[in-house]
Amino acid sequence: MKGGGGRKLFSGRWATVSALSLFLLVGEHALGARGGMKRGAEGGPSTAGAKTVADLVLVHANIYTLDRSHPHAEALAISGPFITAVGGNKAIEKWIGAGTRVIDMHGAFVTAGFNDAHVHLREAGLAKLVVKLNGARTLNEFEGKIRVALADYAPGEWMTGEGWDHTLWPAQLFPTRYDLDSVARDRPMFFERVDGHIGVANSLALKDAHITRDTPDPPGGHIMKDARTGEPTGILEEDAAMNLVIARIPEPSAEKLRRGIEMALSDATENGVTSAQDFSNWDAFRVYEELKKEGKLKVRISEWLPFELPLAELEKYRSEGGTTDPWLKTGPVKGFMDGSLGSRTAALLSPYSDDPSTEGLLRMKPEYVRRLAIERDRAGFQIALHAIGDRANRVALDTYEAIEEINGKRDRRDRIEHAQVLAPEDISRFAKLDVIASMQPSHILTDVRWAERRLGPERSRGAYAWHSLESEGTQLAFGTDYPVEAINPMRGLYACLTRETPEGAPKGGWEPQERIKIEDCLRDYTAGSAYAEFEEGKKGEVKAGEYADLVVLSADVLKSSAAVILQTRVKMTIAGGEIVYQSK
Ligand SMILES: [Zn+2]
Repeated sequence: MKGGGGRKLFSGRWATVSALSLFLLVGEHALGARGGMKRGAEGGPSTAGAKTVADLVLVHANIYTLDRSHPHAEALAISGPFITAVGGNKAIEKWIGAGTRVIDMHGAFVTAGFNDAHVHLREAGLAKLVVKLNGARTLNEFEGKIRVALADYAPGEWMTGEGWDHTLWPAQLFPTRYDLDSVARDRPMFFERVDGHIGVANSLALKDAHITRDTPDPPGGHIMKDARTGEPTGILEEDAAMNLVIARIPEPSAEKLRRGIEMALSDATENGVTSAQDFSNWDAFRVYEELKKEGKLKVRISEWLPFELPLAELEKYRSEGGTTDPWLKTGPVKGFMDGSLGSRTAALLSPYSDDPSTEGLLRMKPEYVRRLAIERDRAGFQIALHAIGDRANRVALDTYEAIEEINGKRDRRDRIEHAQVLAPEDISRFAKLDVIASMQPSHILTDVRWAERRLGPERSRGAYAWHSLESEGTQLAFGTDYPVEAINPMRGLYACLTRETPEGAPKGGWEPQERIKIEDCLRDYTAGSAYAEFEEGKKGEVKAGEYADLVVLSADVLKSSAAVILQTRVKMTIAGGEIVYQSK
C-alpha cells in the first residue's frame, strides 16, 4: 500500500479495527483460541461494512508469531496498517481478492519487526556526517583517519567526530591535544569516545572554549590535566566538561540534521527495526514530524524528553508532541544517574577494580533526582533513568520505591536504561517495583574485553544479568543504544546466546549463566520493548489486530547457530503494512 494510508486508516479507528479483527480471524488459530466463536472463523465476516479482502498476503512463510498460544504459522493477511489474520496457507487464501498483492515467501522466516527500546537517532544521523573513528586499533590509525578527513573541512571550520576507543590500542592511553595538534592546528577539533562520555579536543578548540590550566572542573565533570605541567591534556570527562567545548560548536543546519536523520532511519529500516524509542532533541522531533507529514516516516518513534527540564516545559512538549500517534509521540522523561563503565564514570558502590582511586560519578544527587522524579510522576510522566554502575542502579531503584511510597501504586512502568551492573540484592527489586530493565545485549560484544577488569570477578556476576533479572520476573526491553552500538539486532541476539565477542572470546561466554534463550531474547526485543512504551497488544507480535510491522530474515534464527545468527540479514521490512525495505 502507499505511504500515508496507514495514518488515514488509523485515525480514531484503533478500537473498531481491533474489535473487527476478532470476528475476522480466520483459520486454525481462531478456532483454537476462541473455541466456540465459529462465526468469523468459518462463515467469514458478517459484520456490516467489514473488509474481507487483504491488501497484502504473505504465504508459504515460516512465521514465528511471538504469540504464546500460537507461536508458529504459515501465512498472514494485512489490511491497511494492520494484520488481519494469521494462520495456515489454506485459511489465509480466503483473504486474497482481485486487488490483493500475494507474496510467496518460499519458506522464509518472518517475525515481528524489532522495537529498539533505546536509540539516539539525532546523534546517529549526525555521526553519519562526521569523522568516524570507530575501529581504529592504534593511535596512529586514529590520527590517520582524521588526516584523511581534513580535506572535507576548511581551515577554521570545526572538525568533529566520534567512535575512538583507546581500550583497543596497545598502550590503552587516552589521546591528547598534542596528538591532534600534530594532525592540524588550524581547525578546532573535538572527538568523542565511543561511549560519548569522554572527548578529546585539540589546542585550538581548548583555546576557543577558554579552557586553561586554571579552569576548575565543572560540577559532575572533569578536565584532565597533566600531572607534571598542570596543562589540560585535551581530555574532557562527562557532559559537564565536554559541554565547555561542545557549546562552541555551531549547531548543524536544519538541512544537515534532516540528511543525517534520514540516513539513520534508513539504517533502522534496513536492519528490521520498525519502532525506535529515541532520545534526541526537539529539533530532531521537528524533522520526524516533517517526514511524517511527507509520508516518509517509516519507523515508529517514541521521543523521550529531558528529565531535568522544568515541569512546565515538559508538559508543553508533551502536549505539542502528543502521546498517542502510532508513528510519532512523546514518551518518558530520561535522566542520567551516571556515565559509562568504559570511561570509569559509572557510579559504583566501591572503587573500580582496575583503578582504586575512583568509584565513578553520580551525575544527580539522590535527593535531587528523588524530588524531580516524584514531581514528574505526579504529572503522569513515565520515568527512564540511565544507570550503569551498581550505585547508580541502587539510587534509581530507591527513587522508584520513593515514588510508589509517596504517590501510591499505579501502572507507571518506570525504567532503568542499561541496568548494567547490579548488586545481587538489588536484582529482585526490579520485579518487585515493576521497574523495566531496558538493556542492550550487544554492549557485551564490546565491553566483554575490559568489563571484568573494571569490575573484578565478584561484581561481574551482577553484570548484564539478563537471566537473573528474567528469573525474578523482571520485564526486559532490548535495544542497542545506537549509535553507541550498531542498530543491527542480530548482534543482540548473538550476545544473548553467547556472551562472547564476535570472535568467540571468552570461550563459553562471560558469566555464561546469564545467557538467555533465543525465544526470550526475541520477545524482549519486540513485545518486551512494546510493553515498555505502553504498546503491548498493538505491536510486538504477529497477531491479528496488531500493526503489520514485520521483518523477514535470511535464516530461521530459532534453529540457527549463534554464528549463523550473527551473519543473518534482513530480507524485507514491513511497517504499517507497507514494504519499507527489501534487500537486493
Ligand atoms: Zn543512550
